[in-house]
Amino acid sequence: MRVPLVAANWKMHGSRSFVASFFEEFSAGFSGTGVEVAVFPPAVYLDQAVQESARGNFANIVAIGAQNVSHKAGGAFTGEVAAQMIADIGCSLVLVGHSERRNLYGESNQLVAAKFMAALESDLIPVLCVGESLDERENGETVSVVGEQLKSVIDAAGLEKVAAAVIAYEPVWAIGTGVTATPEQAQEVHGAIRELLGEPGQKTRILYGGSVKAANADALFSQPDIDGGLVGGASLNAEEFSAICKKAHSS
Ligand code: PEP
Repeated sequence: MRVPLVAANWKMHGSRSFVASFFEEFSAGFSGTGVEVAVFPPAVYLDQAVQESARGNFANIVAIGAQNVSHKAGGAFTGEVAAQMIADIGCSLVLVGHSERRNLYGESNQLVAAKFMAALESDLIPVLCVGESLDERENGETVSVVGEQLKSVIDAAGLEKVAAAVIAYEPVWAIGTGVTATPEQAQEVHGAIRELLGEPGQKTRILYGGSVKAANADALFSQPDIDGGLVGGASLNAEEFSAICKKAHSS
């Protein structure tokens, strides 16, 4: 059985007061059964989020993760944050390969693989984001693009390590656009990812991301190979995010 995971990617949004009020409001609306929850705040608020998430009626239920990590272990790399530092303040997860990092900051499949390895070396669980552009979908290249993105990480880390991580399928055309993949479109790619991972992939949590909200979460999360979601915009509203978390079922 795969316990569903619903993750909030706040991107470059938030403030100290937002972090405090989010956890207070989320704590009031969240029942905490049958689903795991993760929150990915901006790096400067990670420490505060770790503290806030350890309080209240959801203590130790909400995991905190970073949105990015250096592929280097440490040293003269101005502006970078090492995996060990992220682990040191109590985080347990890290996003790698988010399409905004791939497309806006030129992160290649090889760099994403190196970041995945850096996360593992510090015992962080990588949430590996994959997904195709609209052009790639329209050209029928979705499964091959996603397959290539996965393959470069499998080549570096091995199949078992990738299967033990979390995968987030996020079609680029659905991120922040309000356009969601239909449950059938998402299921088709999730099924292909699970097939590519073979037997070890039976235990892999594969999240869907791209304009998830409470109104569409049920239909998406009901698909057999969708094990929760990676939620951007809608996760900035604690009540909406809590409603999305409640839609996740065990499979
Ligand atoms: C994301 O940034 O990972 C994401 C899925 O964003 P949104 O939900 O806003 O489309």
